[in-house]
Amino acid sequence: MASGHRSILIAGAGATGLTAALELARRGHLPRIVDSDAGPVPLTESRALGINARTLTLLSPSRVTDTILQEAQQIQHFRIAAKGKVLADIDTTEVPGPYSAIHALAQGHTERLLLGKLSDYEIVPEWQTVVEAVSGDLSETKVTLKKLDGSVETADFDIVIAADGSHSTVREALGLGFPGQVLESSFYLADFRYAGPVDPSYAEISLFDPGMIGRLPVTRDVLRYISTLPDFESRIEHPAPIAERVWASDFRIHFRRAEVMAKGNVFLAGDAAHIHSPAGARGMNLGIEDACWLAWLISEGREQEYAVLRMPAVTTVLKQTHQLTSLITMKHPMAIAIRNLAVPVLLRIPAFRQKLLHGVSGYDTQSPPWIDGAL
Ligand SMILES: Cc1cc2nc3c(=O)[nH]c(=O)nc-3n(C[C@H](O)[C@H](O)[C@H](O)COP(=O)(O)OP(=O)(O)OC[C@H]3O[C@@H](n4cnc5c(N)ncnc54)[C@H](O)[C@@H]3O)c2cc1C
Repeated sequence: MASGHRSILIAGAGATGLTAALELARRGHLPRIVDSDAGPVPLTESRALGINARTLTLLSPSRVTDTILQEAQQIQHFRIAAKGKVLADIDTTEVPGPYSAIHALAQGHTERLLLGKLSDYEIVPEWQTVVEAVSGDLSETKVTLKKLDGSVETADFDIVIAADGSHSTVREALGLGFPGQVLESSFYLADFRYAGPVDPSYAEISLFDPGMIGRLPVTRDVLRYISTLPDFESRIEHPAPIAERVWASDFRIHFRRAEVMAKGNVFLAGDAAHIHSPAGARGMNLGIEDACWLAWLISEGREQEYAVLRMPAVTTVLKQTHQLTSLITMKHPMAIAIRNLAVPVLLRIPAFRQKLLHGVSGYDTQSPPWIDGAL
């Protein structure tokens, strides 16, 4: 059967599921996409902020990149500071290719832009529809869906894409493990809207002994602070009077990945397949990358190559985010002193700076062969 005629179900309409639907739709497929929630992530409760250059490349054929660039804040500089002194200032535009390393756009905005483009193909997620059970043999998968009105539908699909997040029902139904580790310490975040102008052009990490506070632009008047310190809000030096504390949250950091990213014709993508620290802003970007690769492979009739092809990218990102997280969560005073001395020296070395920017851009994973000239 031609791949365009195969029945495809996408479980989860987060950034990963929406991207999979869009990339399949623009290649002539008509997937169904369901989500247990009533709609996309609220604009004020955005988790992912960073959109890297690789994602902009991947979303350029669907033209979502054009709309992201209109709405996002370009992060032109990345600073590291300690005791009020800037230790390093990296120009994030110093990367090859058409895009700078990273832009900031709240995840809720990104999801709405993906939804808008998807509606051009007349595909709308079936909200408040829960994947309850998954069974079947290796060629056809039976899925039970429960809708808001209590009705239950059981249907067979040729392909199922599990983009249902870190607690994936599909992954659990397949009996796939999600081994890894959880960090001892918690992370805290708060988003503030300011009454006066703020500078959205840079991100900064302020190092303490121990701990850190990261400052990231969300919009032209909202900044996010993310920290390892429970009392971080009392340490923030606000750049303008606060108009509103928009959102606050705390979370533990896990590093996990599914034992395998596919079983039969069920494919795991995004947080359903791997989770890690937000250091490096890779989570949503890696999920979008999974979705783009999977859609391309399905269109080529090569989806059985997906699990093996994606593993190196997942390994690279888990390693990079683990290293960055170790740097910002150090507790031993001697290690902190060495780090604070070494980081500015290392970042003055062009090759080291380029390597860091290469990773932040997302260019350290395999380049998409279906996009001409992609890095
Ligand atoms: C504080 C924080 C900051 C972050 N910052 C960044 C960043 O800067 N850059 C970055 O790239 N990433 C970042 N991330 C990670 C990013 O938020 C996630 O990696 C991203 O949301 C994963 O997208 P996803 O679509 O795979 O999963 P999700 O966003 O979790 O979406 C899964 C969807 O599946 C639905 N669902 C779940 N179960 C079912 C079911 N049984 N049936 C139907 N639907 C179901 C859910 O309702 C949800 O809509 C951050 C995360 C945190 C916590």
